[in-house]
Amino acid sequence: MNKDFDIKNLIRDNVAGLLPYSSARDEFKSTGQEMVFLDANENPFDNAHNRYPDPQQKALKNRIAELKNSHQNQILLGNGSDEVLDLIFRAFCEPRRDNIITLPPTYGMYNVLADINAIQKREVLLTENFELKENDILEKADEQSKILFICSPNNPTGNTFQAEKIEFLLDNFKGFIVIDEAYADFSSEESWLKSINKYPNLIVTQTLSKAYGMAGIRLGMCFASTEIIAVLNKIKPPYNVNKLTQEKALERLHEQKAVGNEIAKIKRSRGFLAKALKEVAFVQKIYPTEANFILAKVDNAEKRYNELKEKGIVVRNRDNQPLCRNCLRFTVGTKSENKKLITALSEIQ
Ligand SMILES: *Cc1c(COP(=O)(O)O)cnc(C)c1O
Repeated sequence: MNKDFDIKNLIRDNVAGLLPYSSARDEFKSTGQEMVFLDANENPFDNAHNRYPDPQQKALKNRIAELKNSHQNQILLGNGSDEVLDLIFRAFCEPRRDNIITLPPTYGMYNVLADINAIQKREVLLTENFELKENDILEKADEQSKILFICSPNNPTGNTFQAEKIEFLLDNFKGFIVIDEAYADFSSEESWLKSINKYPNLIVTQTLSKAYGMAGIRLGMCFASTEIIAVLNKIKPPYNVNKLTQEKALERLHEQKAVGNEIAKIKRSRGFLAKALKEVAFVQKIYPTEANFILAKVDNAEKRYNELKEKGIVVRNRDNQPLCRNCLRFTVGTKSENKKLITALSEIQ
């Protein structure tokens, strides 16, 4: 257990003193009878969208709690995980004083958000095999290190990290550890959600953008202790998840079977694609993946990226990321998209 961890020492001073903004709909408590709503300056003519959405997204959180075996007060929802991550920065990191630690090569958004919020970035590279350097991470940290971002499965490398190493960090890192599980549904490893009651400094983020096929509606999820969620709730915009998103997300979260089938198909295709990529002469290495993409080292990433683009296929060139020299990231597509990719790769050999 992390004995030194006390959330009170980690909240920004101005946030600690805040009361949550109370919107018209927050203050109203239902008495069960049919009410006349003249409190929020809405247009009264019903077009299904004239009312403000539920600021606490109760119906949606209820379903998520049920699916994830969690509790409403341990869940915060946002306009994509990007908003959730931004809220975490703004709740805990004091601009121009605090720092965060990221583990490149990883998701670029952590550093973007650090820059926007004027938070110093500290980086500890993964090993050549994309493993965590847990001791180096602790050495890099100081009193002002508020957040450590661990993306697992990691984007763009695709691997997960050893549970023992993550546990070691949860026990010893003095700030929050955000485990970004955007790709967890594609992974054979267990989610860290089960551990939020055990580790007071653990924050798990997930999203409907990847496995659930809902990138367009923007719904990010954050799971953490009730104390952490209460702080985030104080600073979130009151209506940050719009009504259309709440409805569509709820609908999708009742289609578990369809979602499961799609995930199974994507995982099967991932296997086929990995095999096909291995046959390509200019592909030098395929990295193991637990996500819906494959990172591959080629002879010349820039050249191969452009050749694929000429053939109408866009992949992600990760050459400029540390440890990813000449690496391309291939998202697993539909069967026919994957076939097009494989054909194009064989034509440019
Ligand atoms: C795609 C992705 C997300 C998703 O962000 P949303 O804002 O929810 O769409 C989060 N983290 C990582 C590592 C990702 O690759």
